[in-house]
Amino acid sequence: QSQEFSQVRIDYHGALLALQEHGTRMVCTGKMHTDRICRFDYLCYCTEAEEFVFFHSNASVMLPNLGPRRFQPALLDLSSVEDHNTQYFNFLELPAAALKFMPKPVFVPDVTLILNRFNPDNLMHIFHDDLLPIYYTMQQYSDLDDEARLVFMEGWSEGAHFDLYRLLSSKQPLLKEQLKTFGKLMCFTKSYVGLSKMTTWYQYGFVQPQGPKANILISGNEIRQFASFLVERLNVTREEGDDYIVVFKRTTNRLILNEAELLLALAQEFQMRTVTVSLEEQPFDSIIQIIRGATMLVSMHGAQMITSMFLPRGAAVVELFPYAINPEQYTPYKTLASLPGMDLQYVAWRNTMEENTVTYPDRPWDQGGIVHLEKEEQERILASKEVPRHLCCRNPEWLFRIYQDTTVDIASFLEVLRETLKKPNLKKAKVASTVHPGRVREPKCQTSVQATNEAKLSVSWQIPWNLKYLKVKEVKYEVWIQEQGENTYMPYILPHQNYTFSENIKPFTTYLVWVRCIFNKNLLGPFADVLICKT
Ligand code: UDP
Repeated sequence: QSQEFSQVRIDYHGALLALQEHGTRMVCTGKMHTDRICRFDYLCYCTEAEEFVFFHSNASVMLPNLGPRRFQPALLDLSSVEDHNTQYFNFLELPAAALKFMPKPVFVPDVTLILNRFNPDNLMHIFHDDLLPIYYTMQQYSDLDDEARLVFMEGWSEGAHFDLYRLLSSKQPLLKEQLKTFGKLMCFTKSYVGLSKMTTWYQYGFVQPQGPKANILISGNEIRQFASFLVERLNVTREEGDDYIVVFKRTTNRLILNEAELLLALAQEFQMRTVTVSLEEQPFDSIIQIIRGATMLVSMHGAQMITSMFLPRGAAVVELFPYAINPEQYTPYKTLASLPGMDLQYVAWRNTMEENTVTYPDRPWDQGGIVHLEKEEQERILASKEVPRHLCCRNPEWLFRIYQDTTVDIASFLEVLRETLKKPNLKKAKVASTVHPGRVREPKCQTSVQATNEAKLSVSWQIPWNLKYLKVKEVKYEVWIQEQGENTYMPYILPHQNYTFSENIKPFTTYLVWVRCIFNKNLLGPFADVLICKT
């Protein structure tokens, strides 16, 4: 493999001279370590010390130049998980003159993206923390193209789904362990370090109980475009034909104990074929192929549900939760399904019947065993009807409950489906427009006083500029009227481009008036400049 960076492909002597003369150059985006991505020329890595090295020379640039704040706590997060103290990136500094005394560097000629995978054994983490952030970080920097080299520094081996990472570029990704085989000092000619967090929607509960991120910046559109990219790279075709329901099962733990009964009930209720898949029984690409054509995906809560991003628009996601687990508190897949533009229906079912659960107190702690706990604590857990809110990742009560097997009570299961799912043709969903109105133009007000206690306020405006190029089903306008000095306002929704207000309008008073356009009930435009209207 060491031939891969055959040093004849680059002008070795020229590269060495450049490194010695110019040293390392770094320019970053982001004000904080949590939103920073850095681009480097000649960032080096010492495989013996397991440290990145920044070589100072007269031409070096280090922006931001943080001084010792670079260690408070770090220059940047190497994974997409925010501020995780095992995922920090930093480098050591050396004068470029020290190169004379160091092993001959091996140059990596490819444009490289250096990052940590967060948990490459878990499919949810692979997609949410790694694949999506890598894909969109590569979109952000045009030289991170299909020829880019990915370098994973978290120190894990390939993991169960390494093939998925291979789809992101035409070059084989490198693991930290492999870097040693290239030499003692590696220098990345051009590299980016860190990952965009723009695409993540879930926080795992390191500092507060898990839940959707506070400020989600991704929509279904970006998820679906990423999913289409993967589908294309996986070379899977669309499953044409009849409607069917997929039950995604787990085979080693968190089992559905009456799977056959569940399949039969689904088939009867929806008059559809049912299919089961599992990560243990099918290759990943054939699972994606099946899910791409499915009308409904039913599964126990778990990482395999991340595949719901491959469902067609209009499909339903049905997530099952074991006994004593509150679905509202574990919502990575609900949040995904509910992103605007994902166009998926989401339903959660939970087992509320203790007699339908099978517990495993004797298992190792990481599979939910509790026999290692004090007797009292074990008894408390066994008597509890709901896992209280908790932090990640080793809460024994949570692990105990989430690794239970479940006999799904068919009656209550079908009941929540009937209550929540819109039945008629799940697959006929259309892509809703996401074009927002521009500002209304030329807003004007006119006033008149009728009597000492009677006045009128007429407001008119022109349509937003972009409307004349659009076919919009419903165009409405929202007008806010505030009496100057008051801190409340009256909102009105209006169908036309003018309106005369007379109720609640007082003579000899100043009103502030805001107008905006609304497409199809929920696409809000910006307000036009405020009108100051004196009666
Ligand atoms: N997994 C699986 N079948 C099983 C148990 C686990 O395919 O019976 C997969 C699961 O989808 C995930 C990985 O193994 O990708 C780790 O599962 P774990 O239970 O640790 O995580 P969770 O699914 O709760 O996120």
